[in-house]
Amino acid sequence: MNADHARRYFREIYGAEAEVIGSAPGRVNIIGEHTDYNGGQVLPLAIDRRTYVAIRARPGASLSRVVSDSQPARADFDVHSFARRGQWGDYVSAVCAAFASGGARLPQIEASVTSDLPAGSGLGSSAALELATCVSLAAFVSDSRTLKDLALLAWGVENQSVGLACGVMDQFASALCEEGHALHLWCDSLAVEQVVMREAVLIFDTATPRSLRVSQFNQRRLECQEALRLLRQRNPALENLTSAHPDEVRDARLPGDLAKRALHVIEENIRVRQVVESLKKSGSVEGETLYESHESLRTQYECSTPELDWFVERAKKTPGVRGARLTGAGWGGCAIAVGDLEALTSAQHALSSEYDAAFGRKPRIWLTNAAKGAKLERNAR
Ligand code: ADP
Ligand code: MG
Repeated sequence: MNADHARRYFREIYGAEAEVIGSAPGRVNIIGEHTDYNGGQVLPLAIDRRTYVAIRARPGASLSRVVSDSQPARADFDVHSFARRGQWGDYVSAVCAAFASGGARLPQIEASVTSDLPAGSGLGSSAALELATCVSLAAFVSDSRTLKDLALLAWGVENQSVGLACGVMDQFASALCEEGHALHLWCDSLAVEQVVMREAVLIFDTATPRSLRVSQFNQRRLECQEALRLLRQRNPALENLTSAHPDEVRDARLPGDLAKRALHVIEENIRVRQVVESLKKSGSVEGETLYESHESLRTQYECSTPELDWFVERAKKTPGVRGARLTGAGWGGCAIAVGDLEALTSAQHALSSEYDAAFGRKPRIWLTNAAKGAKLERNAR
């Protein structure tokens, strides 16, 4: 999957050449789960699977059109006014409308989407689609916005237009990651730091439906808000949940599950800093901290599944594997492991057949290195 494939697909669909092609990657988060919407830190890297968006003008037409090689239905829309349909085309049409309302002189367009990134697996495919659209459109209308501006635009689109209350991590990772680096991101100030990351990461997609994800995710967000509100009654200066001290939470005797949720968020944020330090010192990810993260997600944040737990337990028993945890919010989706390249490479076959035997489902497994964020592939304008 590459820009040539994207160009050929566009030609097949529209019988003409694309004028611009932009691409953007998915991401995995090494550590910092559920810290982003609590004002904390995260450490994602861009993976080597990307989404490509190819565009050309559609002069004289009153509507635009977009097709995707992974979705059956095409979407017709007006670039100047966004109308939510509850379909995948919303991501593209909402980005177009955001450009148009920002003053860009945008004609109606023909667009195609090609991708080798699994959608809906917690690898940030929606952000990749948004950012690939952003980069294409920016070149198409000669807009000089920075990648950080585009990340914010895409984040606004996903929250306001598509209607998914997500943190900034996916859009920032897809936009700003650099090859051979993880992105240390402070989600409150939006400061970023590139941290050298030469190790490969194993991605294990459990291929399970994330049916509980939206409802449980929203519930956790409310729990975090409530925990912060109660902690602020004792300490009004508290900036956000991740800035509380674990002792403050213990002393506050928060009701129900709130103490567990808050402790996860606070301790997870501390773990991000530990892993960043270890990466800087030794060039490799501190595996034990990943196991601690998973344990906290399983028992305190309660967002794991039997499949994700199975993978992490199996990783612990594999010589040469140093650490593993669920990644991308949980309730199904993906996990990661780090360790010796040989161990990660040779473990894949057995992992696949044992998982299939245990759950009757084939996982998707692959190794990735830290890849480049969103970029312009081709500009024939
Ligand atoms: P994630 O971002 O973790 O993959 P989401 O549920 O946020 O999961 O986004 C998945 C949705 O994004 C898909 O259901 C689809 O609407 C849209 N999407 C992602 N990639 C593509 C693609 N290549 N073509 C069309 N739609 C896509
Ligand atoms: Mg998404």
